[in-house]
Amino acid sequence: MAEIDTTYDSENIFAKILRGEIPCNKVYEDDHALAFHDINPQAPVHVLVIPKGSYVSNADFTANAPDAAIVGFMRAVGHVARILDLDAPGYRILANHGVDSGQEVPHYHVHVFGGRSLGPMLKTSD
Ligand code: AMP
Repeated sequence: MAEIDTTYDSENIFAKILRGEIPCNKVYEDDHALAFHDINPQAPVHVLVIPKGSYVSNADFTANAPDAAIVGFMRAVGHVARILDLDAPGYRILANHGVDSGQEVPHYHVHVFGGRSLGPMLKTSD
C-alpha cells in the first residue's frame, strides 16, 4: 500500500489565507475551519471550507488529524451549507485528492456547490 503524502507546503495559497497574508471573502470561521468564496466560482454558490491544520489532502486529513478536528471540520461544512441557505434546495460537496482529481491547492479543502440544479455527478467522457 502506498504511503500517504503528508508533505505540506506552508507557502500554498490557502496557508497564506489562513495566516491572513492574503485576503479572502470569508463566509464562516471557527476553531476548526475557515470558509470563503471560491475566486473562480463554478456555480452560483461555490464556497471552500478548509481545516485550520496543515493537511495536504483528504487522505492526509482523515489519516492524521485528531478526531476533534475531523468532527469539527465536518460540522463546519454542514454549518456553512446551512448559513448559505442550501439545505432546502440542496447542494454538492466535493474534495479533490491527488493527480487524477486535478487537485490544485495542496491544503485539504471541501468545495460546497449550490444555487442551481447541479447536473450529473461527473462528466461521463473527456
Ligand atoms: P482544487 O482543484 O480542488 O484544488 O480547487 C482549488 C480551488 O481553489 C479552485 O476552485 C480555485 O478557484 C480556488 N482558489 C485558488 N486560489 C484562491 C483564492 N485566492 N481564493 C479563493 N479561491 C481560490
